[in-house]
Amino acid sequence: MKEIIIYDTTLRDGMQGTGINFTLADKLQIARELDELGIDYIEGGFPLANKKEAEFFDRLKQESFKHAKITAFGSTRQPNIKAENDPNIDALLQAETPAVTVVGKSWKAHVELVLHTSLQENLNMIYDSITTLSKAGREVIFDLEHFFDGYKDDPEYAIQVLKAGTEAGATVLVLCDTNGGTLPGEVTAIMADLSKEKLKPLGAHFHNDCGTAVANSLAAIHAGAIHVQGTVNGWGERAGNANLCVLIPNLCLKLKREAHVCAQLKHLTALSRFMFEKANIIPDKRQPYVGKAAFSHKAGQHADVLSKAAYLMEHIPSETVGNERRILLSELAGKSTIVKKLSKYGDFDKSSSEVKKLVKELKHLEEQGYEYEAAEASFDLIIRRTLNRYTPLLELQNYHLESFKSGSSPAKTVSKLFLKITGADGTPINKEVMGAAVGLGPVEALDGSLRDALSPHHPFLSHIKLSDYAVRVLDPERAAAARVRVFITSFDGQRSWGTVGVSENIVEASWQALVDSIEYYFNNYVLQNGIS
Ligand SMILES: [Zn+2]
Repeated sequence: MKEIIIYDTTLRDGMQGTGINFTLADKLQIARELDELGIDYIEGGFPLANKKEAEFFDRLKQESFKHAKITAFGSTRQPNIKAENDPNIDALLQAETPAVTVVGKSWKAHVELVLHTSLQENLNMIYDSITTLSKAGREVIFDLEHFFDGYKDDPEYAIQVLKAGTEAGATVLVLCDTNGGTLPGEVTAIMADLSKEKLKPLGAHFHNDCGTAVANSLAAIHAGAIHVQGTVNGWGERAGNANLCVLIPNLCLKLKREAHVCAQLKHLTALSRFMFEKANIIPDKRQPYVGKAAFSHKAGQHADVLSKAAYLMEHIPSETVGNERRILLSELAGKSTIVKKLSKYGDFDKSSSEVKKLVKELKHLEEQGYEYEAAEASFDLIIRRTLNRYTPLLELQNYHLESFKSGSSPAKTVSKLFLKITGADGTPINKEVMGAAVGLGPVEALDGSLRDALSPHHPFLSHIKLSDYAVRVLDPERAAAARVRVFITSFDGQRSWGTVGVSENIVEASWQALVDSIEYYFNNYVLQNGIS
């Protein structure tokens, strides 16, 4: 069976996604990482789009890639001019990439209503553009825009477009589902029709508007496609593109097809997280294969089975894709789960006094409403206290908050606090420090005053951002006197960790979670790894 070619379009289609923006330096670094992973083609973008894109292609000329071929993307020539005189074809040549991707119309309605030209002229435009580029020594990939909609509307014309691409010498004809409205069954049926035609090899490019972009890509491979396009983490316009982080492992591990990228599967999770970091987006933990929850298990019994025979509970070993198994704590957590959590600090037996102490402590805290499934960092501090491996960062003397509002102006809160603190070397600083801040709400003010007091002694705080804050009411029947549980997620650009606080007072619950967040970082990274 033929090797499947993986084509990445994160730097073009992926960047159409909401909130996805990369600088020139980011794009260069991303291209290098995609090459490291073993991607076959990296679409660099549209060289005619703007100065930044043109500069990117200039910079790429100085780069050498181990395996990947860079492609420049552009459309067929304009109607009724020569391909040699077309600015877009010229920009594709100027980009000096080994391969170019030419996009052309294959849906009759688009030719008539968007291009305003004849069906024959569209075929000429495709033929001329591809031949001009291939005569200049470029490998040409032909993307057939709106192919599936076009085929459903007028199969004969769509096939004429495929034939024009074949005769012009494109190396692969990529069937694009540009609107993303196609389902896997339709892909199978349409590609079965195409197998009767004499055509160049087929590829597929799916959007995820029906949530089936990966399934459609797999159906296309089953039906004979040898080239698939997608983006890292599935980013792209609207609902996104086929997610390469899901498509690639399915291809290598489930379909057992060969692809160059399969040899580097162990680096897939790292690549996914690297891209989230570059895009400044919190990683999607529910993503199959590479998400943080993809191999997470709740409850003690599960954990017990896992330790005996992992395949009974997991569809693949997590390390195959570079992910890791996580055991979540819960009220049901058995001793074996706690032993696993403790293993970071040494070998502890189920019957050891440390494990007994932790089970008791955990039970007591969970009764009060603490929950550690999303707050591993708070749990780490409980373990550290039990094992006497905890260095407090601060001791609160007092905090004071005052909220005010006048007329229709926004409400504000002032926070002031006094602390005794520990220095970066772990020894106490023998004077009281004060911090003060104003925030739009109590949590922002409290966080600001805590940073104000600590920052002169602990520059590490500037790396830490609060990325999520969630409040849950624990006993709503007590109305205004109800206890609340606060979860905070913190992020340092690479890692994220969760902490928890519980109180009748939302400021106090937030305070506990805030202090846990920085004490966790202080104990695990500042004291242990010397991060400052
Ligand atoms: Zn697309």
